[in-house]
Amino acid sequence: MSLDIISIDRVRASPPRVTPLTEPFWTSLAQGEFKVTHCKTCGQMSFPPRRFCRHCWSGDTEWRTMSGKGRLYSHTYIHALPELFAGEPAPLHVGIVDLDEGVRIALPIVGDVDTLDVPIELVVLAYKDGPLFGARPVDNA
Ligand SMILES: [Zn+2]
Repeated sequence: MSLDIISIDRVRASPPRVTPLTEPFWTSLAQGEFKVTHCKTCGQMSFPPRRFCRHCWSGDTEWRTMSGKGRLYSHTYIHALPELFAGEPAPLHVGIVDLDEGVRIALPIVGDVDTLDVPIELVVLAYKDGPLFGARPVDNA
């Protein structure tokens, strides 16, 4: 299942530095897939992607696509934005989510939430110069 893609009519305030290691992540993200590195030795997953497993230091890793489903662990609103983010609408809503596969990620939150531990889904934020990722609450009514 592919992630929803939300068009944003701005360029990214702080574009990622794409390396040979992270290029597959960004290419997949632009197509609606969120991938992490999975260790074939110990079975743990790492994000951001790593050449060596951060749990057991094995170099035997592979890409694995996440479902995009998870729960909100924490979130906050940043009212005083750093100068780098001056072009972004304030306040900036950011949070930490736990994906169902067990990976914890910090990212922007799209939409409002008033409680923790609500179900979320990852979304692709398609800026004019490339993708970023975010999460939004799932309407589970
Ligand atoms: Zn490992």
